[in-house]
Amino acid sequence: MQYLWNTYSNALLKLDKSSQKYIQKFNGIDDKSNEFSLLKENGFIVYEHLDEFGRICFEEKQSLFTYNADTLSFIIAPGMKCNYNCSYCFESKSDLSGIMQPEVACDVADYICQRLRNNPNARRLRVTWFGGEPLLYVNIVEIISHKLIEFTKQNNIKYYASIITNGRFLNSKTLSKLQEFCVTKAQITVDGMRELYCISKGALPNDFDCVIDNICNAADKIKISVRLNIPNNVDVVKEAIDITNYLFSERGLFGKVHVYLAYVCDYSLFTRRCMESLLRFFAELFQMDRFFVRELWHF
Ligand code: SF4
Repeated sequence: MQYLWNTYSNALLKLDKSSQKYIQKFNGIDDKSNEFSLLKENGFIVYEHLDEFGRICFEEKQSLFTYNADTLSFIIAPGMKCNYNCSYCFESKSDLSGIMQPEVACDVADYICQRLRNNPNARRLRVTWFGGEPLLYVNIVEIISHKLIEFTKQNNIKYYASIITNGRFLNSKTLSKLQEFCVTKAQITVDGMRELYCISKGALPNDFDCVIDNICNAADKIKISVRLNIPNNVDVVKEAIDITNYLFSERGLFGKVHVYLAYVCDYSLFTRRCMESLLRFFAELFQMDRFFVRELWHF
């Protein structure tokens, strides 16, 4: 079996024999076939005059310098403390113990409102809660959220919020608070099955069970992306499949959460071995006929 991965659109296609033949013989002409449409739709076939690298550079600069965009996005870290100590986390290696004070939270919200006022084209505001562990600072999330929700309502601006959390404190009470703060998506990192999870995060076995219970409880209420942050010094493929099987089969989360692999390695030293291991992982996943490219792997 062969796979085709588009690193721009992140589309990943599983190629059967006839698709492989189609690609080998492809002559650049639109023959109106399903294969052509699929390849075009997923960014594998582009117009000859399109400068793909130039497009990436342009989009990057546009996102940095476009003030008139109709969507303003902010990532807010109310504090940098965390209940875990992940081996790969920059926070554990720095002195980032600062916590946002309530008056600073008000200033942050005022600043964002001012940015929206200054931009007559603003139609959407997106906020991502980040940390440290943002759920250690629910009071700060509350102050800023209430102000932003109020302002956006009054000004007919759509408000979207998401959170990046380790999920340890995402109990029912916190979850309903997040819903009150219009948080509709959570990204929760799971580093593998119980043993690896504990080693990687400096956590206790009970922490693993609690996080998975929290994911199960939250999955019906908000969108959950489970990020598999599996360190590359273990058998990534085995761990990813074990944890995915556990989540999908034993905990009944198949179709309820979006699972994706984040390959953990020092990207400045990204080696052929890392890439081979990553590709092997994809290959094995797709042999388990339970994963759908578009459903689960459009990260
Ligand atoms: S859970 Fe997140 S913030 Fe906390 S130590 Fe791990 S990577 Fe860092």
